Amino acid sequence: MQLTIKNLNKTYANGVQALNNVSLTINKGMFGLLGPNGAGKSSLMRTIATLQEADNGTISFQGSEGEINVLEQKDKVRSIVGYLPQEFGVYPKVSAEVLLDHLAVLKGITNKKERKEVVQTLLHKTNLYDKRKKNLGGFSGGMKQRFGIAQALLANPELIIVDEPTAGLDPAERNRFHNLLSELGENTIVILSTHIVDDVKELCTDMAIINKGEVLLQVHPLKAIESLKNNVWRKRIERSEVENYQKRMNVISDRMSAGKPVIHVFSETQPEEGFEIVEADLEDVYFNTITNHQLAAQ
Ligand code: ADP
Repeated sequence: MQLTIKNLNKTYANGVQALNNVSLTINKGMFGLLGPNGAGKSSLMRTIATLQEADNGTISFQGSEGEINVLEQKDKVRSIVGYLPQEFGVYPKVSAEVLLDHLAVLKGITNKKERKEVVQTLLHKTNLYDKRKKNLGGFSGGMKQRFGIAQALLANPELIIVDEPTAGLDPAERNRFHNLLSELGENTIVILSTHIVDDVKELCTDMAIINKGEVLLQVHPLKAIESLKNNVWRKRIERSEVENYQKRMNVISDRMSAGKPVIHVFSETQPEEGFEIVEADLEDVYFNTITNHQLAAQ
């Protein structure tokens, strides 16, 4: 099972280049596509899900039915893909069970008995069985997302695309949603697009960082963290000093902590007195990759 994206480009009518020569190889498991807002994540997700066209490039999926040319064989793709969009609209006055049953009919599960079985199984799997009679309008953000997964799973997909799923979820809901996703990643390719570094850190075995339509890095999260080992330093400074440090050092990030900025600096040796070494994490990898790329482009 493999999804191969090669040299994919997309420029919208307004001149924004959302995808710039994107190439990625994605294997079974959870793949994190990490990037800031406007990076091109949704454009890429929608293209893979056959919801929009690319200008050029290729995408191929190698699955149980052999090789599919994703950009050409859209019907075939639709039969193996489950897509959970950023904003999942639901009919507020319909119950989860009724809507899922209806969507199952649309997916072509016409046998009533089979459909009932599929719907019940998915409601159990997404932990919504107890709420199945409740109208979707009364669902919390987390419940809606889980319903979104249930409908995405109707087709028994080999490829699952989840776009910015945890925005607006409380920690418990997020946790439950993560568990569900990682279970799915055991047998399928799950692509998780997000700007939240922790989502990728917790879930993904492989990842790419994307910014301004370009893939900056594809790497195993733990290996990427390992590569920064002993090279990330931290100092608590005054707000007025931030700019000065940025000029003198390779500042990866500045974040507020208890009312004051704490900067992280990339350096092989202690940058100056007062810096302490920190254990690098994925956030350092992320900011370091984006900052370096911006510097290189200047
Ligand atoms: P992300 O999902 O990472 O936030 P998007 O793929 O939504 O990024 O957007 C990438 C860029 O393309 C942004 O600059 C966005 O404003 C622009 N964009 C997205 N969709 C359209 C569209 N339909 N028409 C024009 N520009 C778009």
